Amino acid sequence: MIIRTADQSDQIDPHNSAEESRIISELADWTLDEYSAGTARCPYCNRSHSPAIRYIDICADALNGLARRLDELGVRKPYVVADINTDRAAGEQTREALAAGGVQFIYHILSGDEPVPDEAAVGDLLMGFDSSCDFILGVGSGVINDLCRFVSFQTGRRFGIIASAPSMDGFASTVAPLIRRSLKTTFIAHPPALIIGDTNILSRAPRRLIAAGYADVVGKLNSLIDWKIARLTVGEYYCPWVAAVMRLALERTLACADGLARGDAEASRRLMEALTMAGLAMTYAGYSRPASGFEHHLAHAWEMSFLRLGRKLIPHGVKVGLGTIAAAKLAKRIRSASVDWDESARAPARLSVEAWEDEMRRVFGAAAPDIISLERSVQKNSPEKRATRLNAAREHWDEIRLLLAALPSGEQVVQTLRAVGSPVNPREIELPREAVRDGILYAKEVRDRYTQQQLAWDIGGLPGWAEEITEELFNI
Ligand SMILES: [Zn+2]
Ligand SMILES: [Zn+2]
Repeated sequence: MIIRTADQSDQIDPHNSAEESRIISELADWTLDEYSAGTARCPYCNRSHSPAIRYIDICADALNGLARRLDELGVRKPYVVADINTDRAAGEQTREALAAGGVQFIYHILSGDEPVPDEAAVGDLLMGFDSSCDFILGVGSGVINDLCRFVSFQTGRRFGIIASAPSMDGFASTVAPLIRRSLKTTFIAHPPALIIGDTNILSRAPRRLIAAGYADVVGKLNSLIDWKIARLTVGEYYCPWVAAVMRLALERTLACADGLARGDAEASRRLMEALTMAGLAMTYAGYSRPASGFEHHLAHAWEMSFLRLGRKLIPHGVKVGLGTIAAAKLAKRIRSASVDWDESARAPARLSVEAWEDEMRRVFGAAAPDIISLERSVQKNSPEKRATRLNAAREHWDEIRLLLAALPSGEQVVQTLRAVGSPVNPREIELPREAVRDGILYAKEVRDRYTQQQLAWDIGGLPGWAEEITEELFNI
């Protein structure tokens, strides 16, 4: 839903508005429990930001309290779900903690070495489900978290997650990004009742997964800017309180870099807290917007490329990190462009509808029908919609350029990611050149969500910039 806020035309500051900075200082001492309680009526957007996750336990030996937490939640029999890898990381400790507390449970390990969160995995999870279970308890991170959140929502059970690695920011969120008919699709679900981050487990997680969690939050450098631009150009809902929480999560994550590079347990605890805050910020907003802009659309498009090529999946945050470098490079080009507004509005779309649909089939394969049908219903690429957006962008151009200038440079993002060993060149994850270029050109087609990529397309610069940025990424 798009809500035009009353103060939409207010001048906003590039990075943090004065208002946002003030909120940040007010929130700086809040505990995770206070963030979880949130605020029942936000003074800035009038919405409720109150996820009320009952228990968030992030500390050493947090698993020792698992049985007590389940008892406090009134859980009689949890359905515990892991995959082969997360079972290895935390399965035994979880089973021991349940048995020690006298908790009856069903334990299910998803089939496959590296399950993909798709129709088959949802089926696998449901086929192992026992209807006597009144709670779904995931042991894992990205894939397990998304699958368990979705299935628990669909079966009307509450849900909890025992984090096996601090590898992504979705623990406290309400959404479940899954792959349906080859298209990465975000399903609305519910927040967990329980999050357990046992630092004995988290600090032993593979370094590449810890780096992925860090990179997932680094992506907020761009997603927050995209959100602010969308407020100006398409009048999207925006809340400075939610943005401030996300900004704090980002600052705390960046501050962990040295400790994470050293493999410090305290740094992985702080990262897990920041990841939980980022998830709470999504839950406050009711959708993933505060956490997900162009850099995430790129990550989704690239993930779909990996699936199409039959390749092993790369952790989500790794792709988000690369996407953030691309976003920084695109932002620099947009803000330096001399835009001929009248010409941009007059210029016909570069591709006819038929040629664009052919491109979708070439780029997205089996996911193309859903992408084409999304465009047919929302018409985001229609000349009329583009003209409306261009008018708004022209009106707010100085503010938009300031916002884009607040993004660090591509080189700075590279340094930030390198500090924790997260990949910075598509070669490091064997992402083909064509997939990189196609993503920079077409990732926006996977969602109806305005980002700087749509702006770059609207002003006519995207095709040329996609080629240049692809070249630069491979030369990092
Ligand atoms: Zn609000
Ligand atoms: Zn993410």
